[in-house]
Amino acid sequence: MLKGRELAAFRKQLLGWFRQFQRDLPWRRSSDPYRIWLSEIMLQQTRVAAAIPYYERFLGPFPDVHSLAAAPQEEVLRLWSGLGYYSRARNLQKAAQQIVAKHSGQFPANLEQVLVLPGIGNYTAAAILSIAFKQKYAVLDGNVARVLARLGAIRGDLREPKRWQGLQETAQVLLEPKSPGDWNQAMMELGATLCTPKSPQCLLCPVMQFCEGRKLGIAESLPEKRKKRPTVDVTLAAAVFSDKKGQTLLLLPPKNSSAKPSADHVPTLVSKMWHFPTVSVNGDPAGNLLAFLRKLFSNIQIGKAQLTPVGKVRHAVTYRAITVLPFMLVVENLPLLSGAKQVPLSNISGLPVSNLTRKVARTALEAATLATAKT
Ligand code: SF4
Repeated sequence: MLKGRELAAFRKQLLGWFRQFQRDLPWRRSSDPYRIWLSEIMLQQTRVAAAIPYYERFLGPFPDVHSLAAAPQEEVLRLWSGLGYYSRARNLQKAAQQIVAKHSGQFPANLEQVLVLPGIGNYTAAAILSIAFKQKYAVLDGNVARVLARLGAIRGDLREPKRWQGLQETAQVLLEPKSPGDWNQAMMELGATLCTPKSPQCLLCPVMQFCEGRKLGIAESLPEKRKKRPTVDVTLAAAVFSDKKGQTLLLLPPKNSSAKPSADHVPTLVSKMWHFPTVSVNGDPAGNLLAFLRKLFSNIQIGKAQLTPVGKVRHAVTYRAITVLPFMLVVENLPLLSGAKQVPLSNISGLPVSNLTRKVARTALEAATLATAKT
């Protein structure tokens, strides 16, 4: 662990580098806690380049906590649509509503009050409090942990609770107390731009002389690999209805059940958003889908011959490798079902939908266009 003069030099070099070379990111132009919070939530599981357009688009209708709290959830999800991990958007709005109800719309500047907000854990709380309020909390996420593991030549699984706790303590000792916000961003920036997972660019690193991992020649092999959860294969069949006007039918999953969802739980796989009638299949996909549709639409007759397979969609959600088999059903009129919505198949994004549903729509449309071209 660095101390005294070494620690002072380490801080000075890293902060100096950050202040000179930091990327110009839209959320860095503001000290508004709402904007910093929004960016931190969007950046969880999402790359910076992918998050920027969403961030800018989101701020149009929702420039502050009040507008987000008062919005229809569907609209919030629609603007999040494509970013994935939709619980982030749901929690963001729930937290905004709590901030309006309990803090008159002012983002709280107190760690305990921030940590009780939905979707905010230690990392996000430390990031917001240090950047927006200059409070002395060091951030620790996978990126920063990697940098710390290399600097200190720390081996083993970083997520093991004791090791993670040790990293948190190290991050706190290293934190520059006069500029905690810049410091945290400097650590993140180092992890994102130079001390990257593969091929760290040590020759450009402002703190190379302090790096034990580099001195030992093991930097690139750190952090050591975690044991991966084995992949589970899931196969789904989806019904893509199309009427003569090119309208299709989407459903909303049933409200929460308290049971822990299984690997093939359709509402989880479609991020609890609007989706094509879909069922997990085991064996005969068309037969399984037909049985599911007959149960769902007890008032109409559907025959197996109406189901036209239109290819395959591959998608991954955490440890699941999903294959969706879409089937087109060309019908005179769409079947009626309470709660279902009719939307143009060529533009389902008027409703909040997940990437999985978007891929199914794209595959079905391509097949329909090909079939029309052949006739
Ligand atoms: S010297 Fe290399 S491994 Fe060490 S912190 Fe810098 S970029 Fe990372």
